Amino acid sequence: MTVLAISEHRRGELRDVSFELLTAGREVADALDTDLHVAVIGGDVAEHAEELNHEGVDVIHTVPAGEEFNHGVYTQVIDSLATDLDPRVLLMPNSVNGLDYAPAVANGLSLPLVTDVIGFDASDAVSATREMYASKVETTIEIDADRFCMTIRPNEWAKAEGAGDAEIREHEIEIDESRVRSTVTGFEEVGGGDVDISDADVLVSVGRGIEEEENIELIEELADALGATLSSSRPIVDAGWLPKNRQVGQSGKVVTPDVYLAIGISGAVQHVAGMKGADTIIAINTDPNAPIYDLADYGIVDDLFEVVPELTAQFS
Ligand SMILES: Cc1cc2nc3c(=O)[nH]c(=O)nc-3n(C[C@H](O)[C@H](O)[C@H](O)COP(=O)(O)OP(=O)(O)OC[C@H]3O[C@@H](n4cnc5c(N)ncnc54)[C@H](O)[C@@H]3O)c2cc1C
Repeated sequence: MTVLAISEHRRGELRDVSFELLTAGREVADALDTDLHVAVIGGDVAEHAEELNHEGVDVIHTVPAGEEFNHGVYTQVIDSLATDLDPRVLLMPNSVNGLDYAPAVANGLSLPLVTDVIGFDASDAVSATREMYASKVETTIEIDADRFCMTIRPNEWAKAEGAGDAEIREHEIEIDESRVRSTVTGFEEVGGGDVDISDADVLVSVGRGIEEEENIELIEELADALGATLSSSRPIVDAGWLPKNRQVGQSGKVVTPDVYLAIGISGAVQHVAGMKGADTIIAINTDPNAPIYDLADYGIVDDLFEVVPELTAQFS
C-alpha cells in the first residue's frame, strides 16, 4: 500500500507544487501508515528524480514519456503505474494540468476523486478539507473508500526540504498512440507572462481605488522602491490596465507572499480567497469599514494618493 504522488514539470522545470506534493504526500502517508512514492512522467526524468529526492520520499518512479504534459500520455502512464502499484491514495496537483487528467484517471480506475484539497486527516475517519462558496466555508469530506484520488491546492503545503535517499525505479511504459489525440506544438507567453505573482515574497497590489490607468505608475514606483512585485484586484485586469497574470483572487492566482500590501482594495471575498494566506497583510484604504481591515495585520486609513508617494520616498 502506498501513496502515489504525481509530480508536475513544465518547459524543463519542476513546478513548486511538485515539492508541495511531497510534503502533502508524506503527511497523508504518515496518517495512513504507508509509503510515499512519487512519479516523474516525461521531461528529463533522471534530473527531476534527483531534484525530488527529498526526505520522506520512499520510491521515485521515472517514466520517459515526451517532453511536455500530454493528457493522452499521462492518463495511460498513471493508469499503468496505479494498476501496478495499487496505491491507497493517488495524489495529484490541483493545477491546470492536474485538473486536466485527474478526473479521467479517477474515472478510468473507478476511484472517487476529491479536488482542491487543503487538509487531510485520518485520526478518526479518513477525511479531506476543502473550501466552498468562494472560500466562505470550509467543508470536511469523509472519504468512505479504501482507495481514492485527491488533487491538492498549490501553496497550501510547504515545499519539501532535506536530502532523501529514495529508491529510483525506471519504467518503460508502452503508449497506445491511437489514444493520444493532442500534441503540444509550442508555447506562447501571454502579456507579462514572465512574472509569476505566486512566487513573489512581497506583493504590492492595486485595486479600484487607484481610479485611473495613469495612476498605476504611482504603485509601480512603490513596488520598485520595495523590490516588490506588482499585482492587482480583478477590476484592474478587467479594465485592461494590467495583464491577467497579475490578478489575485478566486478567478486569478492564489498567492502566499511574506508581505501583501493591498492598496485601494476593498477585500471582497473573491479577492480574499487569493491572498488570505499571506504572512503579513497591510491595507491602505480610506474606508475604515472596508472588509480588508478584517484580516489586515496593519492598516493605514488614509488617501492612497497621499500615502503611497510618501512611502515611496521613504523606501527609495
Ligand atoms: C465569480 C467572481 C469571481 C471574482 N474573482 C475575483 C478575483 O479573482 N479577484 C478579485 O480581486 N476580484 C474578483 N471578483 C470581483 C470581486 O467581487 C470585487 O468586485 C473586486 O475584488 C473588487 O475590487 P477592488 O477591491 O479593487 O474594488 P472595490 O471593491 O471597488 O474597492 C475599492 C476600494 O478602494 C478604496 N478607495 C477608494 N479610493 C481610495 C483612495 N483614494 N485611497 C485609498 N483607498 C481608496 C475604497 O474605499 C474601496 O474599499 C470576482 C467576482 C465574481 C462574481
